[in-house]
Amino acid sequence: MKTLFTIFVFIFMSSSLHAQQQFAKTLYDSYETYKVQEITTRRISHPELMKIIDRFAQQMPEILSVETVGTSAEGREIRLLKIGAGTTKIFMWSQMHGDEPTATMGLMDLLSYINNNKKSPEVQAILKNTTLLIIPMLNPDGALRFQRRTSQGIDMNRDAQHLQTPEANILKSIRDKYNPEIGFNLHDQDPHYTVGQTGKWATIALLTPAYNYAKEDNAVRMRAKKVAAELVTIFKPFIDGHVSRYDDTFEPRAFGDNIQKWGTSTILIESGGWPNDPEKMFIRKLNCVALLSVFHSIATKTYERTDISHYENLPDNTRNLYDVIIKNVTLKFSDSRKPMTADVGIDYHEIKDTSGVTKRIGRVVDLGDLSIYVAFETIDGSGKTLDASIVEMNDRVDVDSLREQLKK
Ligand SMILES: [Zn+2]
Repeated sequence: MKTLFTIFVFIFMSSSLHAQQQFAKTLYDSYETYKVQEITTRRISHPELMKIIDRFAQQMPEILSVETVGTSAEGREIRLLKIGAGTTKIFMWSQMHGDEPTATMGLMDLLSYINNNKKSPEVQAILKNTTLLIIPMLNPDGALRFQRRTSQGIDMNRDAQHLQTPEANILKSIRDKYNPEIGFNLHDQDPHYTVGQTGKWATIALLTPAYNYAKEDNAVRMRAKKVAAELVTIFKPFIDGHVSRYDDTFEPRAFGDNIQKWGTSTILIESGGWPNDPEKMFIRKLNCVALLSVFHSIATKTYERTDISHYENLPDNTRNLYDVIIKNVTLKFSDSRKPMTADVGIDYHEIKDTSGVTKRIGRVVDLGDLSIYVAFETIDGSGKTLDASIVEMNDRVDVDSLREQLKK
């Protein structure tokens, strides 16, 4: 009898696991049919966002309710979107750092999927069992300037205790009003991180923030770890090996840490980098796919059976990646200094030209033995020579012309 029961549980578990992966695959494969087409750049503006939300509110009034829950320091509207009528409340907020918009775009895609698939069993399960509470673009003033901080010059993620920004007050008041079981803190990280020493870029970094300096586990944080572990399994087929674990040092001023402390199981999702994707459109898609899939896991309680080791064994987020590395090139000096062989590390930076258009420019950020670093693009310089004066530290470089020069 016991054996039969075990077999039954095993079949049940593997079939629901399979269903989970199938849903994620469907979301991934059919993405082009539902993504919000008018979002083509990550510099999505607040008016554009409001317009998209208005449209969804009109298209699915029976599912989506939109409420203005306050305004930014400069008076821009901050909205709370409510979807579903289930008992498990899932809270999420994006772009508390104005220059971290990837999840904002993914959230709009996710609304679009729900709108197009209201009757699908997965969406029905989410609507019936969960209530999604979504604040997209919590820092619209920062988004306008494409800067981390609010218009008051405050890093909102260090304002969870002092609450000197209206935006932080909104976040705390919504958390306190609904007391959600689960929360997703949605950010972008510098794309120059790798997954430990694996040589793979960290496309996603996950964290279940600590609620005290001892980094203890309680029921709230354990539930967050289960959700994070479920996310690891969801990401695996699409970006295997590209998920890292973010530093879990307790930060008493940050929201993730405090929201965990206040009783909402919180998971930080950091969108990192992917080759040839400066606008982060692929990672936007991953945000949409992973969030919808994990909502379904939460709605069906599938995540409760996930082994937390998937999360706990993730390699640490490690900073050893440059955008471009030219390997083994010979650098010649114009004076009496001897030629040398070196690797050249180049990162791209965004600057505004005189007409206000944003451009990406390369800059030399490292020179020498870069063998422990990886890059989104590696150019082989073996047997080739460059004038040392064009790749000096901190120099602006034209990567396209360097690439051409080294091909010859
Ligand atoms: Zn951030």
